[in-house]
Amino acid sequence: MTQELHIVGGGMAGSEAAWQAAEMGVPVVVHEMRPHVGTFAHQTGNLAEMVCSNSFRSDDDERNAVGLLHWEMRAANGLLMAMAEAHRLPAGGALAVDREAFAAAVTARLRAHPLVRVEPGEITALPEDGHWIIATGPLTSGTLAEAIRAETGAESLAFFDAIAPIVYAESVDMSVAWMQSRYDKGETVEEQTAYMNCPMTKAQYEAFIDALLAAEKTEFREGETAGYFDGCLPIEVMAERGRETLRFGPMKPVGLTNAHDPQVKPYAVVQLRRDNKLGTLYNIVGFQTKMKYGAQTTVFKMIPGLQDASFARLGGIHRNTFLNSPTLLDDRMRLRSRPHIRFAGQVTGVEGYVESAAMGLLAGRMAAAEILGRDLPPPPADTATGALITHITGGAEAKTFQPMNVNFGLFPPIDAKGGRRGRKDRYKAYTDRAKEAFSQWLADQS
Ligand SMILES: Cc1cc2nc3c(=O)[nH]c(=O)nc-3n(C[C@H](O)[C@H](O)[C@H](O)COP(=O)(O)OP(=O)(O)OC[C@H]3O[C@@H](n4cnc5c(N)ncnc54)[C@H](O)[C@@H]3O)c2cc1C
Repeated sequence: MTQELHIVGGGMAGSEAAWQAAEMGVPVVVHEMRPHVGTFAHQTGNLAEMVCSNSFRSDDDERNAVGLLHWEMRAANGLLMAMAEAHRLPAGGALAVDREAFAAAVTARLRAHPLVRVEPGEITALPEDGHWIIATGPLTSGTLAEAIRAETGAESLAFFDAIAPIVYAESVDMSVAWMQSRYDKGETVEEQTAYMNCPMTKAQYEAFIDALLAAEKTEFREGETAGYFDGCLPIEVMAERGRETLRFGPMKPVGLTNAHDPQVKPYAVVQLRRDNKLGTLYNIVGFQTKMKYGAQTTVFKMIPGLQDASFARLGGIHRNTFLNSPTLLDDRMRLRSRPHIRFAGQVTGVEGYVESAAMGLLAGRMAAAEILGRDLPPPPADTATGALITHITGGAEAKTFQPMNVNFGLFPPIDAKGGRRGRKDRYKAYTDRAKEAFSQWLADQS
């Protein structure tokens, strides 16, 4: 008899993983703690409940990385995309759904599947044997989180994300910014020039502080404790504590010489640090923030050099349980120290409903393949699903790892040698390349 696959958590990732494995002929048990044990965000006992917005974001599979992820999941017989389509609401180019009908439909389809059993109850310890996927999400229950922490070490499981905005390197104006590490630290030239630096005059700094203080902020939600602030203050809170605080914190100008104007000492400097191995993404160092998204783009574009910046993701601070996946997981999403356990969904350090479901799709297929005696390699890095798994299991900088949305900055660059194409054409080239590679990856499995 084929061995069972156990999945902990019937959210976005767990539901998709269960469907994929069952469709491959593997019996699945989904362990879901709701409604017996709740979270501060979920409202129902349904599987695949959307906890906040009712949108799966852009459905443009030609020029948008999330839309491409939709396409790949549809091509792979994804349950969540099929149910989203069935309960779609008019929303321009976005894939918005009737959330209750959507979750009810996913629940009904899984419960009706002859190979799926849903077992209510909280899992409180790491399983010793069998085949498991843990997909317990950003609000993983406390007891299980403690068990994971005991296995991985305290510094490898985070309970909050504090995301500084991430910028596409190519959109930084290097006639204003320059590359240099503070005090030229490092053994190699690469290390000595590891940061992008954006200089500010006194007038620019004062205007920036005024804009920060005036910007609209989001409030903390229930369950998001302010105690967190001791470790990682949002920049606007630092600015509220004193107009000079940032100049003595993340914006200090010391140890840096403006390569474009060496005689003039900048009044303040904003630093950007490389965020992935490809060098296509840079995060703004120390700039975690609770400013609303619209305000962030306006305020950050006041930084000289970032006036035309495009953001791969904006900043935020949220309650979020996630692993340091680059150090803990292998490229089959298995916990290196206990390879019979896989992780999937937001707990692996991806962010968003769609990204979580995509990681569930992969984990479900990989676990089922293993049970059936096959090995399933991840999709190539130039697909959206492949770019995400490559990022979380190795492409990201482990030391500064923070949750990531899918975006074209995670893809191997397409235009390295050829002439510059317009951004829209380039995105189309990325999605064309991805569709071909993903179709081949699927064909190789049949
Ligand atoms: C407050 C909040 C708002 C958000 N808003 C958005 C948004 O608007 N858009 C967006 O794209 N993303 C949003 N997210 C992120 C969103 O949660 C994830 O994108 C997505 O739901 C993650 O999917 P998942 O399957 O990893 O986790 P979930 O969908 O949360 O599923 C995890 C499941 O595991 C269960 N579980 C947890 N612990 C145990 C246990 N020990 N035993 C058994 N079951 C367990 C939970 O009950 C839950 O059903 C938000 C997150 C939070 C916390």
